Amino acid sequence: MDRRAVIPVLSVTSELAPLVKTGGLADVAGALPGALVEHGVDMRTLVPGYPAVMAALETPTTCAKLPDCFGGTARVLAARAGGLDLLVLDAPHHYARGAGIYLSAAGRDWPDNPERFAALSWVASEIANGLIADWRPALLHAHDWQGGLAPYYLSCSEAAGRVRSVLTIHNIAFQGLAPPRKLAALKIDPADFTPEGLEYWGQISALKAGLVHANRLTTVSPSYAEELLTPEFGMGLEGVLMERRAELSGILNGIDMEVWSPATDPNITNYTAPKGKAPNKAALRSELGLPEAEGPLCVVISRLTAQKGLDLLLEALPILLERGGQLALLGSGDNALEAAFQSAAGHPHVAVRIGYDELLAHRMIAGGDAILVPSRFEPCGLTQLYGLRYGTLPLVALTGGLADTVIPASPATLADKVVATGLQFHPVTALALSNALARLCALYQQPKLWRKISSNAMAHPVGWRQSAAAYAQLYTGLLDRNT
Ligand code: ADP
Repeated sequence: MDRRAVIPVLSVTSELAPLVKTGGLADVAGALPGALVEHGVDMRTLVPGYPAVMAALETPTTCAKLPDCFGGTARVLAARAGGLDLLVLDAPHHYARGAGIYLSAAGRDWPDNPERFAALSWVASEIANGLIADWRPALLHAHDWQGGLAPYYLSCSEAAGRVRSVLTIHNIAFQGLAPPRKLAALKIDPADFTPEGLEYWGQISALKAGLVHANRLTTVSPSYAEELLTPEFGMGLEGVLMERRAELSGILNGIDMEVWSPATDPNITNYTAPKGKAPNKAALRSELGLPEAEGPLCVVISRLTAQKGLDLLLEALPILLERGGQLALLGSGDNALEAAFQSAAGHPHVAVRIGYDELLAHRMIAGGDAILVPSRFEPCGLTQLYGLRYGTLPLVALTGGLADTVIPASPATLADKVVATGLQFHPVTALALSNALARLCALYQQPKLWRKISSNAMAHPVGWRQSAAAYAQLYTGLLDRNT
């Protein structure tokens, strides 16, 4: 294959920044197409026609009509939106709903989620088979369980072998399970419902379908790729992944260097060196009603779930507060965690905002001294990368992408003059987190050293350059093998 030729790639995703986002997947799917342009990749993104997507489309044109798309009529629209080339699956019976993209207003999974994302995956495979007249991908890049069936449908189709497929695991905790009575509704051949195929303990697993059938598997950090092979992190799929170990690799996520830029961010007082953070810290304190303090202002921006280890932070919080530190948390999720943090906010040095607020997230990253990410597992993690970019020291658990992106300050690294960029703790327990918070507070009392580590953090590369090159190399490698 001619390396200079444009490679047409169809990305299949259930969320996409800036249009619709519940987590890091949206950021990655939104950033990759732009980052891949310079590598000769023409990436178009197939995304569900949720109301927020439909409202954002610029000059949509219908490029395919589907009279029966998993229980209703649908169209595929080609359009630009959010600076991206999209193919939109306009299937109102699946996507024209209020509330969340995965959850009803009552906070429960939509009961037809298996059909909703099987439809997306099936249309991806149809596009690979020539559904759209003037554009056909050489490769399908599916994301998470929502895209997991795309490599399976592709493998059953005429284009099998001609169009290659990649599946990226952003979080193996979500597997897209469905009862076997849905086999026919999901267009799955019952002969494939086996432990070697897409059965997972008596259930259909959309993620496993992708793990078994995609030509290559990636996840979002090298450490998570290793962790996934173990029972502790593989969530029951470690055996399947072990089998496919040779095709699995980890490619770190980057962040959008324009959206997250302390020098130009329109939401903050701009700065290019750590000392420029001061006005942002003062503004954040005043916005959140926090007084002056002796210790570091620590921020957290996160989904509130067991994965994120924030119950450990609740336990360790007294150490931070005793040492004069402060906590500002923005997040939403589990009711019990929301309530516990709201109650912690009774302390004058703790501020909690329950909800989702992109702009406040920017002000918190700019105004905080440190960002805390005590996750039990973390495929890559993005908020520690924002922290690095803004000189807001990341204090992270030693796991997954957190381990790969933060260079810890320890007596050894400091003595060796290693370019430390933050703090790490291990094991992921309240005790280890308490000790790390104590170390953070002690470090804060050494302003020169703190500023040095902040400067190191700001200089650490966190954009898409290297990762986009790695994806492009993966694609060309697969296509080379195809000829
Ligand atoms: P995950 O995908 O597991 O939720 P990541 O760290 O990879 O975790 O990505 C989370 C993304 O969502 C980041 O961009 C983070 O800033 C954003 N985010 C999470 N919670 C909130 C919130 N309450 N308000 C604003 N942004 C949030």
